[in-house]
Amino acid sequence: MTHPFLDLAPLDAGRFAAIEDRVARLLGTTRDVLITQGEALLPLEGAIRGTAGPDTVALNVITGPYGQTFGDWLRDCGATVHDLAVPFHEAVTADQVRAAFAEHPEIGFVSLVHAEAATGNTNPVAEIGAVVREHGALFYLDAVASVGAEPVLPDTWGVDLCVIGAQKAMGGPAGVSAVSVSERAWARMAANPTAPRRSYLSLLDWKERWIDGGRKALPHAPAQLEMLALDACVERIETEGPATVMARHASAAAATRAGASALGGGLEPYVRRARDAAPVATTLRAPDGVDASELVARALVADPALPLVAGGGALAGEMIRVNHYGPHATPGAVHGCLAALGAALAEKGAATDPEAARRAAEDAWHA
Ligand SMILES: *Cc1c(COP(=O)(O)O)cnc(C)c1O
Repeated sequence: MTHPFLDLAPLDAGRFAAIEDRVARLLGTTRDVLITQGEALLPLEGAIRGTAGPDTVALNVITGPYGQTFGDWLRDCGATVHDLAVPFHEAVTADQVRAAFAEHPEIGFVSLVHAEAATGNTNPVAEIGAVVREHGALFYLDAVASVGAEPVLPDTWGVDLCVIGAQKAMGGPAGVSAVSVSERAWARMAANPTAPRRSYLSLLDWKERWIDGGRKALPHAPAQLEMLALDACVERIETEGPATVMARHASAAAATRAGASALGGGLEPYVRRARDAAPVATTLRAPDGVDASELVARALVADPALPLVAGGGALAGEMIRVNHYGPHATPGAVHGCLAALGAALAEKGAATDPEAARRAAEDAWHA
């Protein structure tokens, strides 16, 4: 008997290239799009190690945990790194980036995370991209958490290296990822003596063996199941319409924000201004004296399938994350999370108004 996951026809070069083209259309890019055979950390690290070296002066924007990681990789490559860290409850501004260039005109590389699922903020990439272009620096963007939840337009924004993954708002697999690469970025890699070669981290290997050869022969066995899942998830987005998918995420974020504020009990949005809040996930600040991870554990008792988690690492005590992305970008998931948090707070003796939360969330969803 054939097994649906195991006994598949081989995924050939033509199909692989067609999936790359489909992802390129989703990003509205005419640049090379490479589907990397690993989770998004693979192209995120490969793109930094490919372009950065001892001659690189980098501006590394930190609005969450991934920015920290990028700074570590850049330093490991020997780059001079200027960190621009902003509090996790807000977004970085184009003016802050402009000021960093004024202070360090030699900056030639900028790394930025678009939206942060881990902290719930989103950064104004279009405005920042304009500043980066003015200074001619290479622009690296982690759009893993934004793609599918809000527009990601690497060509329009002048992003040289744009990394995406399908596991968040795209509702797809985590085991493959993609990066769009500008001609400038390829040239930088080709000129970089420390760029990985003959290595799993090497984007240049794929350029030479796959792209430059006209995408006729795959250099390695592809992650077949994950490639099929990626194709299916982009097809599903095309069918629903990318604008509709993004609107669902924006509504879920607005509804969660409004509902949490109306719930009372001391719960409040973690990201202070609504325009800095990411459509992909909403972070909430636990009331004073309440431990976020304990509250989330209580809230999940009745329904462990709700997309609720406590913040990671040092944020576990104060941050609650409502991961309303992908299949959870629905009114049901938002109402479920608010009701569960309300019940958990009530158990702790807090005065909450679940009905007001429900109404506020519903109004905000349709606003
Ligand atoms: C989720 C995410 C990634 C991918 O990392 P995981 O550890 O697999 O979740 C990368 N960057 C950002 C900004 C993310 O939100």
